[in-house]
Amino acid sequence: MCVATDPICGMDVDPETAADQFEYGGETYYFCVTACKEKFEKDPERVFTWKLS
Ligand SMILES: [Zn+2]
Repeated sequence: MCVATDPICGMDVDPETAADQFEYGGETYYFCVTACKEKFEKDPERVFTWKLS
């Protein structure tokens, strides 16, 4: 089973059933709800800053 991680809330998301997806930096990210995608879309750089710290 292939599972992706929602970068906003950290939930495991099945790409097949993900509510939304977004391509950034050559990778596709999957989201549990569209609201998570919208947050990511608004400020992807901030999301990566969180992940690094
Ligand atoms: Zn989410």
